[in-house]
Amino acid sequence: MKQPVLRGRQLLAIPGPTNIPDRILRAMDRPATDFNSPAFLQVQEEIFEGLKRVFRTEHDVFAYASSGRGAWEAAFVNTLSPGDRVLVPETGAFSLWWEELASDLALVAERMEGDWRHGPDPDAIRDRLRRDRGGEIKALCLVHNETSTGIASRVAEVRRAIDAAGHGALFMVDTISSLASIDFRMDEWGVDVAVGGSQKGLMLPPGLGFVGAGPKAIAAAETAGLGRSYWDWKALRRRGGRLGFTSTSPVHLVYGLQESIRMLEEEGLERTFARHRRLGAATRAAIRAWRGDGVGPELLSLDPREHSDSVSTVLLPEGHDAEAVRKITAVRFNVLLGGGLGKLAGRAFRIAHMGDLNEAMLLAMLAVVEMALDIEGVPRGGSGVEAAMKVLAVPEA
Ligand SMILES: *Cc1c(COP(=O)(O)O)cnc(C)c1O
Repeated sequence: MKQPVLRGRQLLAIPGPTNIPDRILRAMDRPATDFNSPAFLQVQEEIFEGLKRVFRTEHDVFAYASSGRGAWEAAFVNTLSPGDRVLVPETGAFSLWWEELASDLALVAERMEGDWRHGPDPDAIRDRLRRDRGGEIKALCLVHNETSTGIASRVAEVRRAIDAAGHGALFMVDTISSLASIDFRMDEWGVDVAVGGSQKGLMLPPGLGFVGAGPKAIAAAETAGLGRSYWDWKALRRRGGRLGFTSTSPVHLVYGLQESIRMLEEEGLERTFARHRRLGAATRAAIRAWRGDGVGPELLSLDPREHSDSVSTVLLPEGHDAEAVRKITAVRFNVLLGGGLGKLAGRAFRIAHMGDLNEAMLLAMLAVVEMALDIEGVPRGGSGVEAAMKVLAVPEA
């Protein structure tokens, strides 16, 4: 059967890749160039400086032509040795995949179990680290914004927990779906290794992975025993010590990133975060309205301190199929929702409110979700769209 042609803009409500602004598309719409030419190298230097401002670090941020997982791997192989123990608080599917990657690399991954409805408990992390008298744990791997559950970990509190335990583990934080959408401060929060990716808050196509490395991580690289070549931090320095890419630079993505950083700095990171907070609050108001007095879909995240401002995971009432809802939004209305990951498959869908997004786009997405819930016969309370409009009608402070 011939598929109907869908006109107008497709709205991406998947948490990566996100909607790419026209300005970024235009910046990449150019012929290839010599990645060693002075003009290009100048752009490249500009992006490495800009990345530091986005990560809020004075230290180096390495970049790879890779997915986010490549950056996960780079973080490990540059700082750790075979048999090293890493502690991974279970926040959701991404934490488990990061843990799996650690095991693949001959690290010993220790999971701290979580219920997927709360972020990790800083006190439990402190207590586990206190018990590690011999300093066997070499790294704590925390997902800042768990994209499967829509729950943001309290990074600064976890840092305080590590310090309270007096433990020397490297603090590694995955900021892939928080960078440039939720407040993250690498240096101020004492993060030793911060992992990022291009296709979420940075509004770029997939294809760039980033690793911010503080002094403790750089020192660990001197003795780290895991094998590495492509990911090796030493391979990323050109003559004169300046940062570059391991081999051919992904030139179009570099031009796109230059534009992305310009856009973020025009808005101002603080205002970018505030915009995400507002869109996140409106989305949650919609979900609360759908929930009604307990009949409808609900927000997976339970602790208001931890609600993610870049993605909301919506749990459907028992007996209803989240995939059926997603299919309606995609096939009939050209709005792509994220699916439930891991144990949430089929039970939840995800609404991303991340990156290049405004009130009108969000309301359109929420209206389409509301229609799809009704078409699919999922019970609900009131109108989520109306509830979201009430939040958005209040002028920005
Ligand atoms: C998207 C995402 C990743 C994985 O990135 P890929 O580019 O798909 O490898 C890792 N962690 C988090 C928290 C993410 O949201």
